[in-house]
Formats: sequence, C-alpha cells, structure tokens
Amino acid sequence: MVGKYATETLQANESGIARAAEILRAGGVVAVPTETVYGLAGRADSEEAVTRIYEAKGRPSFNPLIVHVPSIERAKRLAVFGEEATELALGYWPGPLTLVLPKREEAELAAKATAGLPTLALRVPDHPVMSALLGAVDFPLAAPSANPSGFISPTSAKHVLASLDGRIDAVIDGGVSRAGLESTILAVRDDGTVEELRPGPIKVAPRDSARQYDAIEAPGQLASHYAPGKPLRLDASDHAGDEFMIGFAGIAGDCTLSGAGNLEEAASRLYACLHLGAASAKPRIAVAPIPDRDIGIAINDRLRRAATPPD
Ligand code: AMP
Ligand code: MG
Repeated sequence: MVGKYATETLQANESGIARAAEILRAGGVVAVPTETVYGLAGRADSEEAVTRIYEAKGRPSFNPLIVHVPSIERAKRLAVFGEEATELALGYWPGPLTLVLPKREEAELAAKATAGLPTLALRVPDHPVMSALLGAVDFPLAAPSANPSGFISPTSAKHVLASLDGRIDAVIDGGVSRAGLESTILAVRDDGTVEELRPGPIKVAPRDSARQYDAIEAPGQLASHYAPGKPLRLDASDHAGDEFMIGFAGIAGDCTLSGAGNLEEAASRLYACLHLGAASAKPRIAVAPIPDRDIGIAINDRLRRAATPPD
C-alpha cells in the first residue's frame, strides 16, 4: 500500500527495539509481535499517538484500545484492582488475558485510548520483544491488532506489511505469533463478578458468573470482524471447486489448521489460513467444523464474525 510513511522493518534485537522505543517516544506507531497477534503500538499517554493508531487502522473511535504494561505494579497505577482482579492478574500475567477494570481518575492516559469510558482494558503480554520494548520506555503502550479495522488479524510481520505498509512508522519482525488469537477479555465488576467479554487463549473456569459474551457485547466487539473480504462458509465437510478449503483433522484443505486435530495448533494457524484464503484466486472460502471446546470456542467466535458480511 502506498501511504505517507516510509515504514521501517526492524529486527527483533537490541538495536531494533531501541529504534522502536525512539519512534514511540516521539509519538510514532510501531507494529510489535506479541504472543497473541501483532499489535500496533503507540504511547497510551499521548492523544496524538493514539490518534495515529485509529487513523492507521481506520478504527471507529468508539472502539477502545487495550493498554499494555510491563508488570502488575504498573497496571495498578492505572486501574483499581480488587481482590478478584489481583488474583486473576497473579494467576495469568504475563499472558493472553486482558482485564477490564475501573480506570484510576489520575491515570495519565489519552482519553481516546479508552474511548472516553470509565473503565480500562489492561494486559501484561508474554513475549520477549514486547516485554523488552515495554521495559525500554516509561509509558504504557496502547496496542490493538495491527490490521485495518474489521479485517483479518496479523500473526506475522508480512501480514502487517501487506495491509499497513506506508501507514505506520515501523514493524518489528519477531516471527510468527505463538497463540495466534487475540487475548481473552474479562471484565471484573465492582461487586467482584467476572464477565467474559471475548473468548481467547485462556479459559478461566466460570465462578459465580457464567460465560456471557453472547449477551454482553464489549464496545467495538462487532458482529462482523476478521473478515477476509469474500464469502466464508462454516462447518463445511466438503467444498466446491471455487472454494478455498480450510481443513481441520480428518478434512484436508488448501490450508489445514491442524491435520492432527490439535485445537491449539489450529488457533495459531487460523489467521495465516484466512490470509491465504483471502489472497487466493478462489472467490469463496469454506472451513471445516471446529469442535466447540477449549480454545475451539475462541476459534469459532472469530470464524462466526469472519463469516458475517460487513454492513
Ligand atoms: P483489539 O485491540 O482489536 O483486540 O480490541 C480490543 C477490544 O477490547 C475492543 O474491541 C473492546 O471490545 C475491548 N475493550 C477495550 N477496552 C474496553 C473497555 N474499557 N471495556 C470493555 N471492553 C473493552
Ligand atoms: Mg483487532
């Protein structure tokens, strides 16, 4: 894509991370590998940097961003942690779990990062490059997925460049994302109840609250998302000649999520297969049935949104 920025590709080493930190300090935006997907990072305390994130993605301003910090201590400076939230953070951070908590009034955050909400989505990521970057700067990083709003999330630097080249300052090439799906999002309410707003790699056993994400929509959790730009047919046990087949277990495809039927492997390959299907000459995509258990629940959530045409 031709844009107004000369996007730098940085190596995932000390000098690459130092350069990324320099760009971020100056208010720029850098795509960074995490264990979930690649994020488009900008300083969360800068209205200008956060504006650039929304602009690069074409993201609607009502869709709040996840703010990334290097530790629980730093997270506690930004949001109010009750007993429940502290327990979750101690149990799952660093890792692919985002907590939505009451924002501290004094937190130095751009209003746009939370889309003006009184709550804040926070995560401590578990990836050596993102962790090193968070350690190299003294501000939190707002980082949604590094793709145009509504399209397939990126799990490699190549995916990022395919859609954002020229729209961002740099990308750090840290290889393929391990989990391959966006974080689980849990909201911890004032009374300590926990609501799952988005299923993801971490499955927290329901306590007094059940899985509620069908009923309760996180802002910006749109029915159509992760879209490959062509019709997507789910639960397909066979496929027509003009369909790009995404296989699983016993059903082989043009791209197979996991021949062995391993759901974690399938999650890590989901977006790579969708990217291939989107780029294929075939006008339609079919996807084999994925069992609705464990991380399969999160895979099916993404597939349902990918199959829903945009408005
Ligand atoms: P992304 O960064 O693309 O993975 O999207 C982040 C998602 O986090 C948004 O789409 C929201 O659904 C959710 N989110 C972020 N902040 C909040 C918040 N304060 N309350 C509820 N959900 C949030
Ligand atoms: Mg996203």
